[in-house]
Parts: sequence; C-alpha cells; structure tokens
Amino acid sequence: MTTTEAGSEASVPSTEDGGVRVVGSLSPSRAGDFMTCPLLYRFRVIDKLPERPSAAAARGTLVHAVLERLFDLPTGGRTVAAALELLGPQWERLLEAEPELAGLFAGEGGDAERAEWLEQARRMVERYFTLEDPRRLEPAERELFVETVLDSGLKLRGYIDRVDVAPSGDVRIVDYKTGTAPRADFEARALFQMKFYALVLWHLQGRVPRLLQLMYLGNGEVLRYEPDEADLRATQRKVEALWEAIRRAMDTGEWRPRTSRLCDWCDHKERCPQFGGTPPPLPVVPVRRPSPADLESAARERDDL
Ligand code: SF4
Repeated sequence: MTTTEAGSEASVPSTEDGGVRVVGSLSPSRAGDFMTCPLLYRFRVIDKLPERPSAAAARGTLVHAVLERLFDLPTGGRTVAAALELLGPQWERLLEAEPELAGLFAGEGGDAERAEWLEQARRMVERYFTLEDPRRLEPAERELFVETVLDSGLKLRGYIDRVDVAPSGDVRIVDYKTGTAPRADFEARALFQMKFYALVLWHLQGRVPRLLQLMYLGNGEVLRYEPDEADLRATQRKVEALWEAIRRAMDTGEWRPRTSRLCDWCDHKERCPQFGGTPPPLPVVPVRRPSPADLESAARERDDL
C-alpha cells in the first residue's frame, strides 16, 4: 500500500534511538518522491501542501482495507463473495475517517462515476483471488509498521501490507498494487520499495527476507524477487545517498523540478517553474529556545569532555 507518512522527514530531529543520534527519517514513498522530482518532495514534505483526493488513490485504499480485513474472517470463510461484501462497510469506514472523499463523486454524473469506480474495485478484489487462495495462508502480520535506525542515524520507516512466515522461518514480504505490472525496464523502480522494507526487516530480525512479492491487481500479475545481502547493502547505500541529496537540498534551498509523464498527475503543476508557476517561499523553521533541561544537559556534555 502506498504510504503517506510525510512530515518528520522535513525536520532534522536529533533525538536518540537505541543509542544512535537520529538525523532524519525516510519512507519508501517519500524516497520515491525525491527520486521522481526533488521539487515534488519539497512541496509534499517541506511545504506540506495539501493535495486533492483522487479516485484512484481512494480505490487503492479501499481495496487494501478489504484485503486486510479478509484475513479477520475464519480461514474457510475467505471467499470472493465474502470479500466483495466487505467493500460497502469498508467504504463507509473510509468516508467516516476522511469525509472529504465524499466530494469525489459530488458533481454532475457523480452517481455513474461512483458506480464505475466501485465496479473497478470489485474487479480488483475478484482478481486477487486468481493470484492466490487466502484460505491456504495465514499472514504473520498485516499493515505492519516497521522502523529502524541505521548506524548513520537515518531512520527508515514504512508500512508493509503483509508479512508471511513459513514454518522454516522464511519471510515473504507482500505488497498489493492496484495498478498494472510495470514494463521490464521499470521493474527496478517497483522493487525499490520492497527492498527498502526488506532492508528494515533485515536490520530488525537479522535475517534477509526470502521473497519479495508484488501483486498487481490491475492486471493480475505477480512480480517476485529473491533478495540477498548484497542487494540489501546496495539498497542501504542508495537510501543513504538519497538522504545526503535531500540534506543538500535542505541546506541550499535548491529543489530541482524533474519533469516526467507523472507531471500530468502532479497536484502542484500550477506552482511549478517548469509550467510557468512560482513555488511559495520556503517555510521558516521556527528556532526553539533551549529549555533549562537542554542547558543542563549541554553543561553536562561539556563537563564530560
Ligand atoms: S509538475 Fe512535474 S516537475 Fe513540477 S513539481 Fe510536479 S512532478 Fe515536479
């Protein structure tokens, strides 16, 4: 599932975590934003500009919620019909949590659009059952929040859709995608998010996950990959290099726009210089006055020298 944990990456916290000074944090989605377009990262993470809810994203959230809840049912009850029955209640629950989603189908022709949107969600749920039989597996974790701090002080975090553990202890990381499988030349990009999760689990558990599995519910394809330690070390080098690039952009204030076909879906096109817009001034980060406790601790550190 796509994640939206923007925010903490913007600041450079200096908290302690397990004895390591945390210098920042990164999730796969935000790392992906920076790789796509540094200016997009800035708009989302630094400026925290709101974005319009999209029907495609809402459908993704709905289908993910259904597939997560499906495993609450007793094993034998995990049928297509049962999953489809979850669509209505899960949509109501999402609307309750995010009432602005109701506006997606508020315009003229909204009822027909909503029906088509729901039909596509139904097809995705049905397609899931052509890829695996949920009655034959028991996930170890669903919607698992994971985080770890690298020796460099960079915190990696994110939500994993599903983790399966075989009797042998082998771990499989599963992610559902409501789009279609990427072309071969874009597979590496798709796998980056999965290797990111594998890296976090490797740090947490000391064991390299055996399999990364991306399930594309848009066209019913599955992308599988068996990572090894060399892969995960390379992923770690990549995320640390990315973080360095983000830090440089923070220091210099230079967030370069990078155009691609994704610009057509970018919510910030009107303020993007590539399309004649002007970005807003960078927000001023408030400087916090040191508290008496901070001063005391600084004095102690000086004494320790
Ligand atoms: S329109 Fe394109 S180049 Fe501009 S911020 Fe959005 S993604 Fe980046």
